Amino acid sequence: MHSFHYYEGRLRGEGVDLAELAAVHGTPLYVYSTQTITDHYRRLDAALAGLDHLICYAVKANSNLAVLDLLARERSGFDIVSAGELFRVIHAGGKPECCTFAGVGKTRDEIEYALRQGILSFNVESEAELELINTVAGELNRRAPVALRVNPDVDAGGHKYISTGKSENKFGVGLDRAREVYAAAAKMPHIRLRGVQMHIGSQITEAGPFARAVAKVAPVAAELKRDYGIEFFSVGGGLGIVYQSSLQSGQEAWWRQEPAEAAPSLTVEQYADAIVPALQPLGLRILLEPGRFMVGNAGVLLSTVQYLKTSDHGKRFVIVDAGMNDLIRPALYQGYHEVVPVREPAPDAPRAAADVVGPVCESGDFFAQARELPPLRQGELVALMSAGAYGFTMASNYNSRPLAAEVLVSGSDARVVRERQTLNDLIRGERTARDAEAAV
Ligand SMILES: *Cc1c(COP(=O)(O)O)cnc(C)c1O
Repeated sequence: MHSFHYYEGRLRGEGVDLAELAAVHGTPLYVYSTQTITDHYRRLDAALAGLDHLICYAVKANSNLAVLDLLARERSGFDIVSAGELFRVIHAGGKPECCTFAGVGKTRDEIEYALRQGILSFNVESEAELELINTVAGELNRRAPVALRVNPDVDAGGHKYISTGKSENKFGVGLDRAREVYAAAAKMPHIRLRGVQMHIGSQITEAGPFARAVAKVAPVAAELKRDYGIEFFSVGGGLGIVYQSSLQSGQEAWWRQEPAEAAPSLTVEQYADAIVPALQPLGLRILLEPGRFMVGNAGVLLSTVQYLKTSDHGKRFVIVDAGMNDLIRPALYQGYHEVVPVREPAPDAPRAAADVVGPVCESGDFFAQARELPPLRQGELVALMSAGAYGFTMASNYNSRPLAAEVLVSGSDARVVRERQTLNDLIRGERTARDAEAAV
């Protein structure tokens, strides 16, 4: 579900009028819904009630401190991929002992920082990494908690850039080699084997790949529990969301409206049904690492139509003030975002195909191509829907564009949770030769 709906012809996030937010805070502007995030967390948590489990939210999807704080209050754990993300989690009130550390390229400094903070587990992706963790832990006179990421060689479908569970991907260690690596790890004096982990990809919208991967790894997990006393099996993230949803309008208050989207292709209940039966008999603690599912539909990116333009060939362009530097999913992996006017179009408004593009000097800087859209005017606001995951976290200063502001709404309250960058922010830390001389 999500909490963005038309009310009396105007788009709202929960009870907050988005046009008013844009008027106060400018565009491009990310807006997140508290209700959607907590609802998604609670629904997943409830679907897994039959299992001893810990949800470790994948911070890379949306790492704003306010979002992390919300989830920490729900008692979520966190899946991090860098020292920076761990720093954020701690700063937001999350507990290091509920953090798993993923990623193929952890540095010595990151390993040391995570060890000192006392994380739950390093999810190790190679033998070389295992050796470095053992060495660093030895220097600190500690034992590092470790799980090995195994690669179940399951095709999860989707774009090739977000598929991770095939043997040709860079992630994890092949299932056939897992026992060998555990045997080696068990001999390392500063390693403590705590679990096994997998993550087969992202934006997976059917239960089959999850079920197949769990079926492949569960017997190995049972053996590892018997032989090494591992305590947990992390089944990773990857739960997909609905990007193509049609907004509903109504006179009802936002909190009483039906969820304004088509039935998701994979519900949390279906997901749980696919994996719980194979997991329950293991007697292991089950960890999950959802990112997109938790926050994807909880955010929109508000943008203003700057110009309308028609090419010589009659192609229509809607040029907006958000760019690929603000939201790179369409450019990076053909990610889809619904584009809706913030002022509700008449039901019978004519639709015509247009490309919605940003101001960045790249042909890849588009949000929609040949999209059937109602008439849009210069100066009008549009919302790029489902931009809560892998939106702001992938933003950059490309073209020297300041990073957008972020707002979190809750009921009828709206709070700025990140200020818009200023032009001075853009050059912070930089020096010309002249500056260097002046400083001497
Ligand atoms: C990115 C990632 C996730 C989260 O993926 P989503 O598709 O956002 O759920 C979970 N685990 C690992 C190891 C990841 O790299």
